[in-house]
Amino acid sequence: MDASNSVLHNLLDCPVCMNTMFPPIRQCSNGHALCSNCKSRVNRCPICRDELGNIRCLGLEKLGESLEWPCKYLNVGCRDLLPYSNVINHELTCKFRPYNCPAVGVACPITGDVSFLVNHLKNDHRVNVFNSWTFNNLYTESDPEEVLNNSWKIAVYDCFGYQFCLCFEVFMWGSSQVYIAYMRFMGEPEDAKRFGYRLEVCSSGKSLSWRSIPRSIREPSIRVRESLDGLIIRRDLALFFSDGDKKQLKLAISGYICSITT
Ligand SMILES: [Zn+2]
Ligand SMILES: [Zn+2]
Ligand SMILES: [Zn+2]
Ligand SMILES: [Zn+2]
Repeated sequence: MDASNSVLHNLLDCPVCMNTMFPPIRQCSNGHALCSNCKSRVNRCPICRDELGNIRCLGLEKLGESLEWPCKYLNVGCRDLLPYSNVINHELTCKFRPYNCPAVGVACPITGDVSFLVNHLKNDHRVNVFNSWTFNNLYTESDPEEVLNNSWKIAVYDCFGYQFCLCFEVFMWGSSQVYIAYMRFMGEPEDAKRFGYRLEVCSSGKSLSWRSIPRSIREPSIRVRESLDGLIIRRDLALFFSDGDKKQLKLAISGYICSITT
């Protein structure tokens, strides 16, 4: 069945915005239906110009309930057929819905699938992408450009058939300046659990390390920071671990990503 294109399904297209109408569907006194979103923006029926009251179109809602509905992400791979009452909820959590750009600390409006976002990070945020599961990155004073709340730097690692973002941020924790490094997973939370990562800084035989599970980019980065799920280094300790004169940040963070076989 081509559920997306049947004549009956088309009856539930809003004549104004062309999206599928979901309850409560509204209609004018002559029976022209429109979605509640469009209804809230107009006073008159867009078809006959009659004044719109609060008439609900139960007939179309019943029709909707008698049909199975494809997810709006059908064209990017979701094959689910849904009951009418579950379409909106499903689409809000569908694993084929686009991801937000994982750049941290900037309000970037770009969304897309993982391969699109990797290219976007590379081209528009000047992020380095490595084909590697190990890393040894140097963070210097000028990396988080200024020592302001939410300065950041990320790098992408492509390994095990997935992509991971190593994030490094500066933020103020109370009155102290703190660094945090953590790994994000470019995919769904349940797939993130199949991986682990380790981060380490060391200097003169001393080391500080962190081991965790990467966090899916479905979660905002701020939530990862707030839950302190990363290698957290106070400024004075970061300087202690810095190469050179220990007055400037020159912090090498090494580590790896691994797959956890259960
Ligand atoms: Zn509409
Ligand atoms: Zn009308
Ligand atoms: Zn879906
Ligand atoms: Zn972006």
